[in-house]
Amino acid sequence: MTADSAELAASPCVDRPLALARYDHLPDALLDVPAPELWRHLPGPTLVHLPGRHASTLFLSVLLHGNEDTGWRAVQSVLKRAGGRPLPRSILLFVGNLAAAKAGVRTLPSQHDYNRAWPGTAHPQTPEAAVMREVVAIAERTPLFASIDIHNNTANNPHYACVNSCDDHHLQLAGLFGRTVVYFEEPVGVQSAALSRLCPAVTVECGRPGVAAGVAHAVELIEAALSLQHFPDHAVIDADIDLMRTFAIVKVPADATFSYDGSDADFCFRSDLDHLNFAELEAGVSFGTHAGTRRLEIVTSQGGHAEYFDYSDGEIRLAQRAIPAMLTLDPNAVRLDCLGYLMHRIGRDGRRLAGTGG
Ligand SMILES: [Zn+2]
Repeated sequence: MTADSAELAASPCVDRPLALARYDHLPDALLDVPAPELWRHLPGPTLVHLPGRHASTLFLSVLLHGNEDTGWRAVQSVLKRAGGRPLPRSILLFVGNLAAAKAGVRTLPSQHDYNRAWPGTAHPQTPEAAVMREVVAIAERTPLFASIDIHNNTANNPHYACVNSCDDHHLQLAGLFGRTVVYFEEPVGVQSAALSRLCPAVTVECGRPGVAAGVAHAVELIEAALSLQHFPDHAVIDADIDLMRTFAIVKVPADATFSYDGSDADFCFRSDLDHLNFAELEAGVSFGTHAGTRRLEIVTSQGGHAEYFDYSDGEIRLAQRAIPAMLTLDPNAVRLDCLGYLMHRIGRDGRRLAGTGG
């Protein structure tokens, strides 16, 4: 995220020490430790190599955001279910932001977001970016089968997978999680973009934290990727998946106020904003009202000056068809990341599908 307030706060802090810890096993005791307590057992960001029968390795990352613990719970469940028997294939497990997990937040104010710090990041000089470079350098020396980065979000969203490449094996990996697949180029510095240069890679969004169904779905994906011999040879066709592409990130300017309950603010968003997520919306759908000349910030990978919202008559209306994602009612998520994303449907060739919503 290029103008992320957390990143701007963190970017000058280049002298904080941060070291990657490495282990060749995961003590059984950790299989019952919840994410907020992991800091008592691990010194910081940690990479664990768990050997399996097949050397082609599954890379897993969890807790890149400290308050998104579904990935850690899923890993605990997979390892418990294995019961000490050899894994079908080796795992390289990255356990990310333990300090933020301790505090129950996505990212601490002093930190660079752990999922904006991977190679390709806009802030390569931060301690977090140095750790991620080290992780990727180790991954480059490992025979990788696939990579899965597990997240939660704060809004009403279906479970879905995100990819940074539309090559068949990336989409087949995403298909192990479900039909809904989002292709994105922004924000930069994310885990799946860095790993997609090495192997098929996905980010999976497992709904809100603390929901058993999200953990079960992540477990299913990990176990499927562990036991898959190889990716199918046949090509993925448009009918196999619902493929969408993010074309804009919507942000509230850092100096603007906002509300969801109709109270006085620069932007008064509708209280059910997150129920628009993954709906195919026509131009004209209202997101709420705005004061005076305030405008939402739009970040796009294509640049350009297309009109995304129409601000006439004090309303904030979509100026073109779109499918929103991740629209959130959580003020912290808005401040640390964004209000949400706008997407449209694309085909396997990357072209926008004509005549469909968005
Ligand atoms: Zn996340």
